[in-house]
Amino acid sequence: MSSESTAPVATNFLRNIIESDLSAGKFTEKRWAGQPGPASVQMAGQPDPARIRTRFPPEPNGYLHIGHAKSICLNFGLARDFGGVCHMRFDDTNPEKEEQEYVDAIIDAVKWLGFDWNANGTEHLYFASDYFQVMFECAESLIEAGLAYVDEQSPETMRTMRGTLTEAGKDSPWRDRPAEESLNLLRQMRDGKHPDGSMALRARIDMASPNINMRDPVLYRIRHATHHRTGDQWCVYPMYAFAHPIEDALEGITHSICTLEFEDQRPFYDWVLNNLQRLGKLAAPLPHQYEFARLNMSYIVTSKRKLLQLVKDGHVNGWDDPRMPTIAGLRRRGYTASALRLFCERTGVSKSNSRIDYSLLDQAMREDQDPHAHRSVAILDPLKLVITNFPADKVELCHAPRNPHHPEMGMREFPLTRELWIEKEDFAEVPPKKYFRLFPGNSVRLKYGYVVTCTGFNKDAAGNITEVHVEYNPDTKSGTPGSDSVKVKGNVTWVSASHAIPAELRLYDRLFSEPFPDAGDGDFLACLNPTSIETVHGWLEPGTIAEPGVVTQFERLGYFVADAKDSTAEKPVFNRVTTLKDTWAAGA
Ligand code: ATP
Ligand code: MG
Repeated sequence: MSSESTAPVATNFLRNIIESDLSAGKFTEKRWAGQPGPASVQMAGQPDPARIRTRFPPEPNGYLHIGHAKSICLNFGLARDFGGVCHMRFDDTNPEKEEQEYVDAIIDAVKWLGFDWNANGTEHLYFASDYFQVMFECAESLIEAGLAYVDEQSPETMRTMRGTLTEAGKDSPWRDRPAEESLNLLRQMRDGKHPDGSMALRARIDMASPNINMRDPVLYRIRHATHHRTGDQWCVYPMYAFAHPIEDALEGITHSICTLEFEDQRPFYDWVLNNLQRLGKLAAPLPHQYEFARLNMSYIVTSKRKLLQLVKDGHVNGWDDPRMPTIAGLRRRGYTASALRLFCERTGVSKSNSRIDYSLLDQAMREDQDPHAHRSVAILDPLKLVITNFPADKVELCHAPRNPHHPEMGMREFPLTRELWIEKEDFAEVPPKKYFRLFPGNSVRLKYGYVVTCTGFNKDAAGNITEVHVEYNPDTKSGTPGSDSVKVKGNVTWVSASHAIPAELRLYDRLFSEPFPDAGDGDFLACLNPTSIETVHGWLEPGTIAEPGVVTQFERLGYFVADAKDSTAEKPVFNRVTTLKDTWAAGA
């Protein structure tokens, strides 16, 4: 089985929409000036070389999580597949929560996932804050057209006057003030003449609209706050619902894809665009908003606010803690970018919300890595095994495939010696039913080595088994003629005690013990799994590659990757990405 997505891409409603838009020639007249800009700039541009434009528009107020990976794969994937371009845009219109650290981490995560925004030599990396001036001018023209007004009601009054789902809202006393007055006030707001919350610019639509989002939504508010890019240049900031359609239009986005929660915002999205186009501010063809179901997954939370809380309150060790569902955390844990892409592709694009089982991610990882990962042996819970009839100074080499699916990857070589480490669970003083591993009198194969027969064991004063004794049969070496003449049911992994590399291995369980930690009003922190990490000190087959980004399958145990932060050449530290799907079968 190949992990490369050679399979045809499954179609979905977004692909269907794009196909029909393209065959209807919707964008044939579309122009692109080589950079974002209002109608005056775009109309002077060339015919747009991109057949479609999409965008990935995160707010830089946290690290990206696996839900964002879905949106990234979708937006960049559609652009790639339809001869288009996907813009990387920071939706940084909210000064208080945004930071450069997040901008850097987001860029890093998207690149690592395998996408980039360079098309024909142009970097399509944009910041909404670069459009503040144009947005402000858009607001001014809405006022001039009688489509917006400055409201001096307090935020609380505005909220109560907005009405409810069953009750119409009430007009503000400032709703019909002359345009000239609103224009002056807006400029005073911009010039820092008024305190936060004292007034706001609102669209003038319909306070009785059945869609609450259309009841004169706020377009601009006053915030005397320092912005991570524009500093103190502005003290008025556009609201997301006003800013987003303008950002899309300035960038010539054709398909603006967002999650279902924004469905009710679409009429306002269109209201903003249609009016500003009519007023000559924005170029046609206008962007269209399409909604798809966000990725929800069991056993994790994907709200940036909750992830931030996990980090700030020290429930995890930072944004890239290998238990976090952030892209940085998944990457450090050892999930590959191709496994994440496979997972995002697999889980499809839908119009209705559902929850994806976390195990699908592990399945994608296994499928992605089974054909590639180097095999090796690790012993997590070591027990000494002594081959009593094996000379103390003898070192015999054994061989095993680097990857059983790819003989051309060659064989690995490792020493067999008199003293070995095996897993504690591979010996039983009194064997339970159907136990095929070591117990007194039983024979097993030391995987890739000889058949051995258990002759005894030592115990300490506390009754713990300290050492197991076996004798080997010299005629049974794996890979030699007649080696299988002695049949055994059990197969035991091992490493040479004198050659193995000591290592720390971090074994993870789910971060939450409840499948839906953020369901209902419960405290999601109460569902934290107290044993989500177990650290053990074990032994690795010599030759194991301890490099972050190189996935190793430790036989029977799962897929592991060296920890990018803590692993050193002297003291390797490995993270278990996921266990193997099939429990290790005897004779495998
Ligand atoms: P959060 O609620 O975690 O803060 P957000 O939606 O506010 O997430 P943004 O930075 O605004 O985060 O998201 C950037 C893009 O990623 C948006 O287009 C958003 O729709 C998309 N996105 C966010 N979460 C998911 C998810 N779980 N599944 C799919 N797409 C998502
Ligand atoms: Mg958001």
